[in-house]
Amino acid sequence: MQVSFACTEHNLKSRSEDRLCGLRTSRIETLRFHLRILNTHTTHHLLRLFICDLQTCFFFLHRNLGKSGLRVSCLGLGTWVTFGSQISDEMAENLMAIAYENGVNLFDTAEVYASGRRSSFVITTKIYWGGQAETERGLSRKHIIEGLRGSLSRLQLDYVDIVFANRNDVNSPMEEIVRAMTFVINQGMAMYWGTSRWSAMEIMEAYSVARQFNLIPPVCEQAEYHYFQRDKVEVQLPELYHKIGVGAMTWSPLACGLITGKYSDGVPECSRAAMKGYQWLKERVNSEEGRRQLAKIKELHLLADRLGCTAAQLAIAWCLRSEGVSSVLLGVSTSDQLLENLVSKVTDHICKLTIDALLGNKPHSKKELRA
Ligand code: NAP
Repeated sequence: MQVSFACTEHNLKSRSEDRLCGLRTSRIETLRFHLRILNTHTTHHLLRLFICDLQTCFFFLHRNLGKSGLRVSCLGLGTWVTFGSQISDEMAENLMAIAYENGVNLFDTAEVYASGRRSSFVITTKIYWGGQAETERGLSRKHIIEGLRGSLSRLQLDYVDIVFANRNDVNSPMEEIVRAMTFVINQGMAMYWGTSRWSAMEIMEAYSVARQFNLIPPVCEQAEYHYFQRDKVEVQLPELYHKIGVGAMTWSPLACGLITGKYSDGVPECSRAAMKGYQWLKERVNSEEGRRQLAKIKELHLLADRLGCTAAQLAIAWCLRSEGVSSVLLGVSTSDQLLENLVSKVTDHICKLTIDALLGNKPHSKKELRA
C-alpha cells in the first residue's frame, strides 16, 4: 500500500526548489520508504506516531509565489472580519505575533480591512472597495493609485509586497489596469501585483496585455478554496500556473468556519454567522446545500478523528496538497484557533482518496475528461 505525504510529495517532486527547514530531506525519504511498505492500518498508527515530526514541516515550509521569486509561508494570516470588528487591536497584534513566531511571514490585508504593521513580513493589500463615491472604488488608474496610497498610509508603510486587484472591474479597460499596476510597482509602492476573484480568461487577458505593451503581469490569483469550492483552484489555475506562472493564494479553507463543525447544531452566538452583516453566511448554513455540506462534514470529522487531528487541521492540509497553491490564508478569531490551525497535519494518499470519495465533487481537468 503506497502512502505519501502531501508536503513531501510537493517538495521532493513537483517543487524541488521548496525548502523544508527543521526536517531533513533524508528523514522524510526514510519515512516515505517505511510508509510505502506498510499496510493501511499500520500506516495510520505510524501517522499518529510521526505526526509531531511532520507538524514541523508545515510550520517552516515556504513556497514561491507562482513562478515569481517571492517566498511566502505556505500558511498566511488573513485579517478579514476578525481584525475589522470581532477582536481588539491587542488581540490582533497577539495573533500576528503568534503567527510570525510559528513561521508565518504572509499577512493579507485590504483597503476595507483594519490595519497591520510591518517588519520582515510579506504584506499584501487589495484594491477595489475604497469608499462610497463612484471614483473611490473599482480599478480605474485613479482608484488604483489613490487607493493604494490610502492603504499605505493606514498601514504606515512605504510599500506593500503584493497589491491585489480585488475582483475585476468591467468598467475599466484591461490596459488601464495593467498600466496602473505597473506604475505603482515602478513607483516603489508595491513589489508585485496579483488578482483576486478573477476568471482564468481575465487573468490571461491581463497577462497578454502586459506582454503586448511590455508591462508587468500579475503573479498570482487569490481564490476561494475548500472542500466545497474546488474547480478553479484544481482545474483552471494549474493550467495558468504552467502556462504563465500565475500562482494561487487561497482563502476560506474552512468555508468561513463551516468545516470546523461549529454550525452542526445551529449558529453559535460567538461565531461569524451570528455577526452583524453576515446574514448571508447564516442563510448559507441553513440552506439545503448547507445542510448537505454539514452532513459531509460529520463524516470528515470521523476521518480526522481516525488520523488523530482536528477537522480544521485536516481541511487546511488538504488545501495545501494542491499543485500551484503557494499559500493558504487562514482566518481566526482566537489564539487557540490559530495555534490549532497552524499545526496543519498530513494528508496521506489514502486519506486524499477517502476525502475525494466522500465529497464526490472532484473536478476533472480537460486532460482527464479527454481520457
Ligand atoms: P476560514 O478559515 O474559512 O474561516 C475562518 C473563521 O472560521 C474564523 O474567523 C473563525 O470564525 C472560524 N475558525 C477558524 N479556525 C477555527 C477553529 N480551529 N475552530 C473553530 N472555528 C474556527 O477563513 P476566512 O477568514 O474566510 O478567510 C481567510 C482569509 O482569506 C481572510 O482573512 C482574508 O484575508 C482572505 N480572504 C480573501 C478574500 C478575497 O476576496 N480575496 C475573501 C475572503 C477572505 P468564528 O470563530 O467567528 O466562528
